[in-house]
Amino acid sequence: MPLPCIYDLSLADLQSALQEMGEPPFRARQIRQNLFRRLIDDPERMTDLPAGLRAELGRAFTFRPLEVERQAVSADKQTRKFLFRLPDGAPVETVLMLYERRRTACISTQSGCAVGCAFCATGQMGFRRSLTGGEIAAQVLSLARMLEAKGDDLSNVVLMGMGEPFLNYDAVLSAVQVLSAEDGFGFGARRMTISTVGVVPGIRRFTGEHSQVNLAISLHAADDELRSRLIPINRTYPLAVVFEACDEYIRETNRRISFEWAMIEGVNDSAAQAHHLADRIRKSLHKPLVHINLLPLNRTRTYKGGPSQAARIESFRSILAEEGLACTVRLARGVDIAAGCGQLAGAAEK
Ligand code: SF4
Repeated sequence: MPLPCIYDLSLADLQSALQEMGEPPFRARQIRQNLFRRLIDDPERMTDLPAGLRAELGRAFTFRPLEVERQAVSADKQTRKFLFRLPDGAPVETVLMLYERRRTACISTQSGCAVGCAFCATGQMGFRRSLTGGEIAAQVLSLARMLEAKGDDLSNVVLMGMGEPFLNYDAVLSAVQVLSAEDGFGFGARRMTISTVGVVPGIRRFTGEHSQVNLAISLHAADDELRSRLIPINRTYPLAVVFEACDEYIRETNRRISFEWAMIEGVNDSAAQAHHLADRIRKSLHKPLVHINLLPLNRTRTYKGGPSQAARIESFRSILAEEGLACTVRLARGVDIAAGCGQLAGAAEK
């Protein structure tokens, strides 16, 4: 049986674990400082703790839930992909993207994914298990530790790696809480983004959180027939319901939503789809507080579709711009090491 992961313990959990060890509760804050601020992942290096406690913590908890099994660096050196192995053998991929001054961590919330989107390698590898909040947060801490060793630090965290975050809601929320907490990692919530394919109960719960964490929704199609072919969960949560939840989110929070659109040649890149999307936004949202990101599809072995041509992407973008919608064409990153959106497949891709 793997030991419990130390990053899964809330402050209160840690205090009660310490009480059972006969230690005063103030040690809990010291331990969290060591874990989240000093980024120490070995209790023996927590030199502000008594030696006996350090040894006991090491026997009771795992401090390194992620073993790096493999890493790959893109040819332009701007993207690094890590294959981590969890204590039970489940694979998790995490990506670090360097772009000018930005250092973005793309982290996973599940090992594999049960949603099975047609174009996504993670979906095609199947579902292994959901990650705990501590395992999600530990990916960020691992990358932060690597950057810190070079005198650098993270600027953004996106929960867009393996898995559907809102099918692992509680763990995802506990991870973003500990990452943003002042007595945790202290990372600004506005610098984090949760990306969902449109799991409506999750969007509704998230609306009620009034969180400062950004929300992104992978749309990829503006009609149900096409979207259900690309994202099977659209049959459960069709576009009208997704847009209704988006409208509630905007009304309640007055925060902008990002809509993600993987541009697939000849599939969802027509002028008709662009107009249809603009129509939906106009008719469904009381104000168009959205930003649309267009990303050329990253190829995977299991999907025969390819990325749209640049001219096609540009004409799609200009239609949305003419409709008064904010829209950006994103660069494909790390595609040569299968670290792009939809390409994370863990051990299955080898
Ligand atoms: S795109 Fe996201 S939700 Fe869909 S299969 Fe891939 S990881 Fe799962």
